[in-house]
Amino acid sequence: MTATLLAGTSAGIVAAVQSGTASPESMVAAAFARMRVADAGASGLNVFVSSDETASGRAAEHAPRTGPLAGVPVALKDNIATPFLTTSCGSRVLEGYVSPFEATAARKLREAGAVLIGKTTMDEFAMGSSTEHSAFGPARNPLDRARVPGGSSGGSAVAVAAGICPIALGSETGGSVRQPAAFCGIVGVKPTYGRVSRFGLVAFASSLDNIGVFGRTVDDAALAMEVISGDDTRNDATSAPSSQVAPALRSQQADLQGVVIGKPREYFPPTLDASMRERAERGLEALRARGAEIRDVSLPHTTLAVPAYYIIAPAECSANLARFDGARYGLRIEGDGLRAMYEATRSSGFGAEVTRRVLLGTYVLSAGYYDAYYRKAMQVRQLIRQDFDRVFATGVHALFTLTTPTPAFKFGELSDPYAMYMSDIFTVTANLAEVPAMSVPIGRVNNLPVGGQVIAPKFSEATMFRVSYALEAELGAAAHR
Ligand code: GLN
Repeated sequence: MTATLLAGTSAGIVAAVQSGTASPESMVAAAFARMRVADAGASGLNVFVSSDETASGRAAEHAPRTGPLAGVPVALKDNIATPFLTTSCGSRVLEGYVSPFEATAARKLREAGAVLIGKTTMDEFAMGSSTEHSAFGPARNPLDRARVPGGSSGGSAVAVAAGICPIALGSETGGSVRQPAAFCGIVGVKPTYGRVSRFGLVAFASSLDNIGVFGRTVDDAALAMEVISGDDTRNDATSAPSSQVAPALRSQQADLQGVVIGKPREYFPPTLDASMRERAERGLEALRARGAEIRDVSLPHTTLAVPAYYIIAPAECSANLARFDGARYGLRIEGDGLRAMYEATRSSGFGAEVTRRVLLGTYVLSAGYYDAYYRKAMQVRQLIRQDFDRVFATGVHALFTLTTPTPAFKFGELSDPYAMYMSDIFTVTANLAEVPAMSVPIGRVNNLPVGGQVIAPKFSEATMFRVSYALEAELGAAAHR
């Protein structure tokens, strides 16, 4: 029975645990049984960096059985701090590192009755789109093990897609929840910047970073997002005050009467693959069938988003990652003097992608280039924000696009860093503009999942979820065909 519950929704597990027909301990045991199957063999999914069945079992015994997530097994990306299991950020520099404190989002899940079953595989310090930059090997896409699950939160997406747990947390700086959700055929949500506390999320690019959620259904994603949202200004100065954050996101309202949905022209370029376009059109058709009005709109600065992102994110990362120097956390490789110790530790602790970004970021922030690159990128970011503001000011409630221009690619297929960066084209805009966005399955191309993206104005998550509930209800089984 627990296996059946695990294959269902969080809501189903919570109902069973609250009524006493299932226990948190039995749900955790079922999750670990499923984990062993998923990870077995040479082509195992490599979902987890660390897990401990005995410790999770003990946590289950103490889990509050009345909470909104009572007995629900959850997985966290390995850059979300927890005092049990690692917080290694997919990096040799933090290999085996255990945090002395707990991220606010992790604490909220635990207090709601959820039980942590493992920390998941990710691209090193969340830089990447495939988990191929993980120092501990990539995770595999459960729908086709020769393909990437997406990234950087790939392991968390796989944990949910492979049925190990119904919800998981990831992090988003430029699409790292939405893109793996799209590649694995599940729901992925990036909230408005500030809705979810970043306390305990290891910083990559602080002005773009968010904690996000994965779920198999829109309702599970809404439930998890409700639990982790909220004011935490004491610990995170950018956390939004409660007055801005509408707490309720769950609804079963599946009609879109009176809702205007923008179709941004720049996200449907002539170069877009025909089958992908056809899937997007089917998504728009589904929204229309539920009563939405679809309107053509324009976000003219969209093509500048990837270049701006790949200046701002590396700039902020070069500052944030300065703390990994051998003196404070994790790895230390002794050298002849302090400087040599820094050099040796950072040279062997960081992988190629992180090194590339630290170098690039240091360069664009240096005295002679700051104005030419960093300041310019910040100005472009402002134009991108204004694009969204203008469209939403015309009475458009939400936007609909594809989450990615292609389905999951094969391992090694995007070996050129630039090609990998360009694959983020539809997702980085929401992080730059700080607006909420989510990916919902809308069908398959070549039998691989395709995600549709719903983007809403700041703090309008309730509207974003309403559109997603309707999309999911209208598409039904067609979302997975
Ligand atoms: N793929 C993007 C990058 O490599 C986004 C990463 C993220 O959202 N953490 O930076």
